Amino acid sequence: MLKEFFSRSKKRNSSKVHRNGNGGRPLSQEGNHIRHPYFTGPLAKTNVVIWSYDFVTGRMACSSGIEQLTGYRASDFERGKRIWQDLVFEEDRPGYEEKRKRVNRGENIHHQYRIADASGTVRWVEEFISPKMDENQRVVRLDGFVAEVADPSVPGDPADLFSFHDPATGLGNRKMLEAKIASCLQDSPKRMFAVLLFQFDKLKSIAEVLGVKNEQKLLKILLDRLQDMKIPYDHLYRLDSTVFGLFLPNIRDEEEPKKTAQRMIANLEAPVPLENYEFLFPVKIGISRYPNDGSAGEELINRAEIALNHAEDYGEERIKFYFPAMDIEARHVFQTEADLKKAIRQNELTLLFQPKVNAKNNAIVGAEALVRWNHPERGLIPADQFIRIAEKSELIDEIGDWVLKQTCKILADWTKRKLPAVPISINISPKRFLRGDYPGLVRNVIRRWGIDPGLLEIEITETSLMENKAVVTDAIQQIRQLGIKFSLDDFGTGFSSINYLKQFRTIDTLKIDKSFIAKIDEDPQMSAIVKSFIMLAKGLDMEVIAEGVETAGQLKFLTDNDCPVVQGFIYSKPLFLSDFEVLLREGEIRPKIGSATDIMENDRRGYFRVNFPSRKKGWLTVKAVRGKSVNAGKAPIDIKNIGGGGLCFLSDLDLPAGNQMLLAFGFELKDDPFVLNGHIIWKKKLRKGFEYGAEFIIDENERARLIKDLNQVLVSQRHLLFDPFA
Ligand code: C2E
Ligand code: CA
Ligand code: CA
Repeated sequence: MLKEFFSRSKKRNSSKVHRNGNGGRPLSQEGNHIRHPYFTGPLAKTNVVIWSYDFVTGRMACSSGIEQLTGYRASDFERGKRIWQDLVFEEDRPGYEEKRKRVNRGENIHHQYRIADASGTVRWVEEFISPKMDENQRVVRLDGFVAEVADPSVPGDPADLFSFHDPATGLGNRKMLEAKIASCLQDSPKRMFAVLLFQFDKLKSIAEVLGVKNEQKLLKILLDRLQDMKIPYDHLYRLDSTVFGLFLPNIRDEEEPKKTAQRMIANLEAPVPLENYEFLFPVKIGISRYPNDGSAGEELINRAEIALNHAEDYGEERIKFYFPAMDIEARHVFQTEADLKKAIRQNELTLLFQPKVNAKNNAIVGAEALVRWNHPERGLIPADQFIRIAEKSELIDEIGDWVLKQTCKILADWTKRKLPAVPISINISPKRFLRGDYPGLVRNVIRRWGIDPGLLEIEITETSLMENKAVVTDAIQQIRQLGIKFSLDDFGTGFSSINYLKQFRTIDTLKIDKSFIAKIDEDPQMSAIVKSFIMLAKGLDMEVIAEGVETAGQLKFLTDNDCPVVQGFIYSKPLFLSDFEVLLREGEIRPKIGSATDIMENDRRGYFRVNFPSRKKGWLTVKAVRGKSVNAGKAPIDIKNIGGGGLCFLSDLDLPAGNQMLLAFGFELKDDPFVLNGHIIWKKKLRKGFEYGAEFIIDENERARLIKDLNQVLVSQRHLLFDPFA
């Protein structure tokens, strides 16, 4: 509808408007093919047209709504066979052309006029047009939106639909990327292409901290770097505040997008100078490919997004390709998020308390509040099965605020009941400090419950301090002025240097991470590191506590090395409130000496297990979630052992334990294929991925076949062990 406006303005005057039944060829249903599906949703079926005209390529694209609105084929307009101006009602034409001139000068316009459709019916439409300019203030593209309006005195408000660009950068947005893919699919459906989504997690916090101007500067620097890599501007998109898209047309092989992604990381991650500082902007990338990963724009973008969610913040795993099994996890995350929202409302969260003990006299000197989800069907769900999911959304703030209020309420109750209260520490997610209202909230809550601020402590992790120094320290200062203490949680796992810590006179306690404690018994290097942490804390005038203390050896090492305050299973697991109150009255607790047996590794029904030291390959799929069957892809698993009752496997997927998800496991034993249903009954987070225990749901015949084969495997494993020729 505008190709002609710029290229065929002379002809326009001689054309006629079809009116009252003459002229146009009405569309047959068969000829009605889907065009650039800007909208595949409900709008595609209404009389709404979205179009875009690119001056550089001379290409015009319009949504299929034009067929409903005018009765002419969209392709006729796109190929220039039919001209929109010809449809404009004669009386409205002067006003129409006047408006179009203004677009040409770079103005956004909104106007209403009449057109005559193929049947000659006159219709009122309203149109928005937005020009995109280059740096020389030349119009390079127009995007328009036309909607039929019933009565001009009551115009609709389609303005919110009319956005194809990110206002801050001028890049196309998600809708635009979808349109781009759609047109590419139409032009050359046989070519391979890729969608890369890349995310700068820190962008949002920088904008909040350094202001919009700096955000603009920063964006410009990052986009310039992409330009330097010869990535054309019109292949770049901005999908939301931190996520950008790159469309890679015509890739030759699977490796090409990966190479581009690696180059992007190398270029984008150079330090950015801003406000006399240098900032690092880690970037991660998710990739989907056509035709492998989908056949429509929306699907390919969603799948690149799923891959992006799997990408890690650091290291090799920053670039992830989509693979079908990721859907299983995406579904789980989605479901958990929805359930968690409900759980918060329905009061399904609960707090457990784990004592902090001074090992010199076994006195309880404090406790850490740890959240659990008391699920009506799945029972008590551990924190790490939902906290990480909650951290991806605003839910984590809701949980954190609930924990704060609940803890204060309990502390007030102890005072009222004259229990010998000890300080309780709560875990606060780094993100929470970035919203300026936190210090105010803490103040209000402690006043509301009238508690002694000395009884409340906040644990934050090292990385949260490092990432947004200014805002976070400021918030900490304000909260400390109320009399509340801070601990640096998981200390040692981040990157704090001594110099760095010195600046943080704001931290009261270092909490040495359990991964170090776990190794002090066996690893002399680790014990040296722990010693240095303790000395560091003393040197900086900080308190120190060790977490995850499980054995008598660890406890002795810590007390011998001047770190008597500990938390860990050797004294107690996290306890329900009523149990913790019993301890609180007693005031002390004795360590449990003797090593904990790992019941999880044993087959609960007493079947023998066959171990596969070099891991057996298998797969899993999700068959049903809460009784609803699903059709998910197969994900590879590495099997550690198999028994008559279940198996133990490793996977990158983050799956829930419990019987709400029915899985099927596939593997081969002695060339016999097995596909067995089962549930996950326990899971363990590993440094990379997860370890799971699953219980089979099988009938006794199938079990007999399994055990027979397992027996044979066992025999051959033994045989191998003693084989003189092996
Ligand atoms: P964290 O803050 O490092 O909490 C300590 C975790 O170690 C707890 O796991 C605790 O049960 C576990 N633990 C305690 N003693 C031992 C031990 O001797 N050995 C071993 N192996 N583990 C021990 P939990 O409760 O599952 O919490 C896991 C993580 O979830 C926490 O790690 C924390 O990062 C997060 N989390 C828990 N509650 C909250 C909360 O209310 N808010 C937020 N934002 N995060 C929470
Ligand atoms: Ca903690
Ligand atoms: Ca910790």
